[in-house]
Amino acid sequence: MSYVDEVIEMVIKQNPAEDEFHQAVKEVLESLRVVIEENEEEFKKNAILERLVNPERQLKFRVPWVDDNGQVHVNTGYRVQFNSAIGPYKGGLRFHPSVNIGIIKFLGFEQIFKNSLTGLAIGGGKGGSDFDPKGKSDREIMAFCQSFMTELCKYIGADTDVPAGDIGVGGREIGFLYGQYKRIRGLSEGVLTGKALSYGGSLTRTEATGYGLLYFVDEMLRSNGEDIKGKTIVVSGAGNVAIYAIEKAQQLGGKVVTCSDSSGWIYDSEGIDVNLLKEVKEQRRERLTAYAAERDSAEYHEGKGVWTIKCDIALPCATQNELDIDDAKTLVANGVIAVSEGANMPTTIEATEYFLDNGVLFGPGKASNAGGVATSALEMAQNSQRLQWTFEEVDLKLKTIMQNIFHNVDDAAKNYGFEKNYVIGANIAGFEKVVDAMNAQGIV
Ligand code: GLU
Repeated sequence: MSYVDEVIEMVIKQNPAEDEFHQAVKEVLESLRVVIEENEEEFKKNAILERLVNPERQLKFRVPWVDDNGQVHVNTGYRVQFNSAIGPYKGGLRFHPSVNIGIIKFLGFEQIFKNSLTGLAIGGGKGGSDFDPKGKSDREIMAFCQSFMTELCKYIGADTDVPAGDIGVGGREIGFLYGQYKRIRGLSEGVLTGKALSYGGSLTRTEATGYGLLYFVDEMLRSNGEDIKGKTIVVSGAGNVAIYAIEKAQQLGGKVVTCSDSSGWIYDSEGIDVNLLKEVKEQRRERLTAYAAERDSAEYHEGKGVWTIKCDIALPCATQNELDIDDAKTLVANGVIAVSEGANMPTTIEATEYFLDNGVLFGPGKASNAGGVATSALEMAQNSQRLQWTFEEVDLKLKTIMQNIFHNVDDAAKNYGFEKNYVIGANIAGFEKVVDAMNAQGIV
C-alpha cells in the first residue's frame, strides 16, 4: 500500500465518525500523491503526513450559560490548534448547532494550507461551539461569549493563537469575546481579528472574504481569456461572505441573481439589491423572506435551489457540502464556465471531479476564500504596529495577495503536469511551504 493510502486509512481508523475531516484529508492527500511519490521514503521516514494530520493540540470544554428565563444551558466549546509551523495558530470560531470535533478538525486542517497560501506568517487552527445564535437576545449572546472566552482565554494570545469569526460569529460576537479576554487577561492585544474599527479592527476585514473571492475569480477568468463583465452569477448563502461577494461581483460588472439562507432562496431577475440584503441580514437580522417582501423583482423559494438557475459563474458561499454531484451536473448542463468556493469545502469530492472533468474552471476554497484570513493577518500586523491603514491600502494588499495566490496555484499545477487543475495546485503550493517550515524546525 502506498504511503498516502496508509495515512488515509489510519486517519479513518483513528478518528471514527469524523466524516468531514476524512473528506478534507482525502482531498488534500490525493492531490499530494504526485509530490509524495517522487520522494516517498524520505516523507515516510520523517512521518510528514502523520504529523500533518494530527493536530498539535485539541481543546474541548464545557460552556455553561444562563438564558433570559433563568434556564441554564451547557454547550461544548472547541479549539483545535492544528499546525504552528508557519506562525501562530489562526482561524475562525464557528457557532452552529452542527459543530462537532470532526467539523472543527476539517476546518482546521483546511486552514493550514489556506493560511500557507496567503504568503503570510500564520499557522492553522479553528474552533467553535454547537451553540445556536439564531433567535437569541443580545444578552444571551453576550452571556454565551463571556462563558466561552472564560475558558478559551487560557490558551490563546496575540503571538500564540488568534481566533476570528466564521459561521455564526460576526462583529457582535467578536466584541463580546474580546471584552471578556481583556477583562480576564488584562491585555489590550490583537488576540482576535474581525474587531470593530473603534478598538483595533482593520478596514476592509468585513468585506475581505467576499471581495477576495472575486479578485481570485477575476484573475482566474483573465488567465483563461474570460472576464466577469456581463456574466450571470449565482451565489448561495446570505452571510458575510455572500454579501460582499455579491457587492464586488456587481462592481466588476457581473449580474448576481440569487442568494440563499438555511430556509430558502431568492431569485431576483433584476439582480440582487445588495443594500437591501445588507439591511435585512446585517442590521435587522431577519430571514430572506423579508428581502422578497420588499422587492418586486424577487421570488422566494423554500428549500434548496440556487444551482438550478442557468448561469456562467457559480459561487457557493454558504457551508460545507452544499453543492453535490446532481447540482454539478445541472450547472454543467446549463453551461457554467467557472465555479469558485467562498465557503469552506462547499463542493463534494464527486462534484469537484465532475467540474474538472468537464473543463469548468474550479477555484478551491482554500485558495479562493483565503482573502478573509489574509486580511486578518493584515489586522494582526496593524495591531503590532499600533496603526490603522486606509481602506485603499488594505484593499490593494488584499487584491495583490489574491492575484499571487492564483498564480502560485496555477504554477504549482503546471509544474506537476496538471494544468488548470487548481485543486491540485492549491494543495501542492500550500503543502510545500508548510513542509519546508516543518523540516527546518526539526522533530517537534
Ligand atoms: N473563518 C475564516 C476562514 O475560514 C477566517 C478566519 C480568520 O480570519 O482567522 O478562513
